[in-house]
Amino acid sequence: MSKVNIHEVLGRGYSSNVFFVESEKNFLVDAGMGISTQIVNQVRKVSEDIHRIILTHRHVDHVGDAKKLSQDLNAPLYASEKEAEALRSGDDRTVMGSNFGRRIPPLEVNKLDEREYSGFKVLKTPGHTEDSICLYHPGEKILLSGDTVFSHGSVGRTDLPTGNSKELQGSVERLSRLDVNSLYPGHMSVVREGAHDHIQRALTGLKFLL
Ligand SMILES: [Zn+2]
Repeated sequence: MSKVNIHEVLGRGYSSNVFFVESEKNFLVDAGMGISTQIVNQVRKVSEDIHRIILTHRHVDHVGDAKKLSQDLNAPLYASEKEAEALRSGDDRTVMGSNFGRRIPPLEVNKLDEREYSGFKVLKTPGHTEDSICLYHPGEKILLSGDTVFSHGSVGRTDLPTGNSKELQGSVERLSRLDVNSLYPGHMSVVREGAHDHIQRALTGLKFLL
């Protein structure tokens, strides 16, 4: 089995966390907003060879630096179908750039078609946005969860455009059935061990609310 190493650049201000995944093929998960210098430095310390930037969903705090990073790292952008469509058309209402004073021009984003990429399963986890994804490595028990679920039982908001609380509950329920040891969420801290408990707590909280 190939080794997986995850290097993290934790978000500052509004920015999401960004993860550089060193595996069969190296790739970046999310692009953050305003932390591209740290990301490029972090990546270059490890490798010049980066294949893709995979965006977990369309929100500006995850894609603000996508264009710059794509150019600086010479790596194409990928997102699931509906997220990619919104980013390609520069749909400010659902990307929410103006809400953060950072309107995002239309981005060249490819559709992430694969069910699996570099040993990671691409999981459809709608709820925070309509076509949000998570990436799961069964062998290493790693989950990169975007804004679907965070550490300590927190979950992503569902009151933003295309959000849906029922769908989020279903997504968290499916994630809770996975064997997850470490969790790399889009915001908040990384969980290095026993992450399943954090997801279970999130599910219990959702069931209590709904
Ligand atoms: Zn988000």
